[in-house]
Amino acid sequence: MVPSSTTELMDTTEQTNANVDDDRLTLNNVIFAGSGHSKCVICREETRRGMISMPKSARLDLLIIHLMYAPNGVRCCSSHLLNNNRLLPDVEISMGNRQQLASSLSSSEMIDLVTDLLSLLHEAVTSPRLDFLDPSLNDEDYLTWTGWTKAQFDNMFDIISPYLRSSSNRNTRNALAMFWIKLKTNLSFRQIGSVFNIPGNSEDRRKRAADAFDSVRQCLIEKFVPRHLGVQHLTREDAKKQNTSFSIEFFGNNVTIIWDGTYLYMGKSSSHLINRKTYSGQKHRHLIKFMSLILPNGYILDTIGPFWGTMNDASIAKNITDTCDILMKWCEKGDTMIVDRGFRDVIESFIDMG
Ligand SMILES: [Zn+2]
Repeated sequence: MVPSSTTELMDTTEQTNANVDDDRLTLNNVIFAGSGHSKCVICREETRRGMISMPKSARLDLLIIHLMYAPNGVRCCSSHLLNNNRLLPDVEISMGNRQQLASSLSSSEMIDLVTDLLSLLHEAVTSPRLDFLDPSLNDEDYLTWTGWTKAQFDNMFDIISPYLRSSSNRNTRNALAMFWIKLKTNLSFRQIGSVFNIPGNSEDRRKRAADAFDSVRQCLIEKFVPRHLGVQHLTREDAKKQNTSFSIEFFGNNVTIIWDGTYLYMGKSSSHLINRKTYSGQKHRHLIKFMSLILPNGYILDTIGPFWGTMNDASIAKNITDTCDILMKWCEKGDTMIVDRGFRDVIESFIDMG
């Protein structure tokens, strides 16, 4: 972002033909959007409700993409902007009645123009190199960086953004992006801080990226995960809809849950105790375990964990049935639990459950 916008400015300077006759300056290639406050600078409609003073970043988009300069204070409809911040990429600009910027620029107007351009440039230099408010980021960019499409990302953001405390909309959106970038790419927090151009030295950057990650994590656990995981997110009726004709034939049309242990490999910890507790003698690697509760058609009802890699499926299931009151209450007599032979020690608890 930084090098390209610098070039942009230099190009414009080269294309600027200073006409010295009668002390006025002519910019041939930049269109002056007009400074009047009575019309929208984009569509030239008369001022009406929903019009706002055009933010700096949108004026910068207008200048870079459309070579059109709009001075500080011009107004536009908020419908041309994304999140009241950036210019929508496909916005159509009404070209009627525009003057070339050059036609009249006195020396005092020139000073205002340069000051304003410098502040636009400052905005460009200090903005994130990767900005999830940037409307030019497409689905593929979102998938590559976060693992989600733009629509999925927006949906998640809408749910958790009211609970994320931050100074600006841009910060909360980028914080959610940082969280998924960390999980998707495993870049260090220092690297992520640099990608998002977080101000400060590299230690400040690392800390602020890590803090953002942590607050998003807490927010997702509290506000997002319960909507999609855990026995409380489905009614028994909904769970029965996930039965297949095969499971109905064999186990009847009750709730049928398949229990199976799964695991995630992890790196070695610097703590000896954690290393011992996560080492699986069976797989000869360090791992953490989760217990998955699956409905017959593959719908994931719940994932419980994490558990130490040294625990076996039965001790994990025992642990869960001992402590999980919600699951006990949710299950009814006649429900089927499908398990493999690793569970034979906890068969009693399953019988208690129904
Ligand atoms: Zn408009």
